[in-house]
Amino acid sequence: MTRVTQARRSPAAGSGRRSSDVAVLPNPPPGTRLDAIRAHLEGAGAPAYRFRQLVRCLTDRGVARFADMEELPAALRRDLTERFGPAVLPLTPVVTEAAPQVEKVLFATRSGARAETVLSRYRAGWSSMCVSSQAGCGLGCTFCATGAVGLVRNLTADEIHGQVVHPHWRAGGRALPDSVAFMGMGEALANPHVLPALRLLTSPGYGGISPRRITVSTVGFTPGLERLVREQPRVTLTLSVHSPFAEQRAELIPLERRFPLAGNLAVLDRHVAAVRRKVYLAYLLIAGVNDSADHLAALARLVQERPRPELFHVSVIRYNAASGADPSYRAPAVEEVAAFVARLRALGVRATRRRQFGASIDAACGQLHARYLLAARFPGTG
Ligand code: SF4
Repeated sequence: MTRVTQARRSPAAGSGRRSSDVAVLPNPPPGTRLDAIRAHLEGAGAPAYRFRQLVRCLTDRGVARFADMEELPAALRRDLTERFGPAVLPLTPVVTEAAPQVEKVLFATRSGARAETVLSRYRAGWSSMCVSSQAGCGLGCTFCATGAVGLVRNLTADEIHGQVVHPHWRAGGRALPDSVAFMGMGEALANPHVLPALRLLTSPGYGGISPRRITVSTVGFTPGLERLVREQPRVTLTLSVHSPFAEQRAELIPLERRFPLAGNLAVLDRHVAAVRRKVYLAYLLIAGVNDSADHLAALARLVQERPRPELFHVSVIRYNAASGADPSYRAPAVEEVAAFVARLRALGVRATRRRQFGASIDAACGQLHARYLLAARFPGTG
């Protein structure tokens, strides 16, 4: 642990606690690039405050290139550049798309893998970021653009944290996002690097985002879910249901065959009883597939059977045709989604429709990456 001694406030304040505000800057998780930089500075005999200055440049001011960190001596900047490359963060934006209230960026990692990130800005001034946990995904959900491209690799903790604090979002002194959702590419709980990434995002100085404002979404990777509720019990959880019927759910989410919904719900039952906090069940509504009266009744029963049904909230999402997903799937009408939600509520289930922005840029995460990969594999399709 090192103590922050300077308290100069930056005009580019983040939403979380800035590194200049915190009394103690914890060491980054072992194995991360930030920890390697810290250890390198220590080994080179640099005073401890140099690392704090570097972190402050990144998270308070959105400066990621060592050469631009004016607080550091020129020789140290050159040394860091020689040792770690030009920037703290291992990400470079390669494609951006914007629509009112939403911007999507495809980042390239140093190894050439891709990470897709979406930032939504609400009129009330609130901002929310959707990050990727894997480049591609190997779980093959049939409604998902990312599933169609397969797994490239797990993203590292630095690559996940870097999506949130990247200078790309900080132009004009913009703050860090108010909330972060692991709802982009990849199954977050299948990637062990998500836990150190959460530690970075929630640690004062590196992100300082409250765990309650971080949502981890899973299709039901039970071992990862058990570990997450043990190690990060304050993080908000969303479990994708998408069908209350095991056979059909396995068609939509093949992982159901390995880790059935019932086992994941049992983990959540224990979790909500322990922390007395709400969890979310996501329900992707696909026209003619999972929107029948039988589905609705079974979904309502699934919630009502929980020991603490009041702590389960169903979030209904309108299907958005995705590049590479099963072409037979269709989006339901907006009114049908509203009616589905209303009927769930009439049955006593807490339910809302999840708001989506940016239909014109396929704002669901993974679609920009899917188009990029499909275009690379099959020129002319992008
Ligand atoms: S929905 Fe999630 S887990 Fe399923 S294929 Fe897509 S990214 Fe992977």
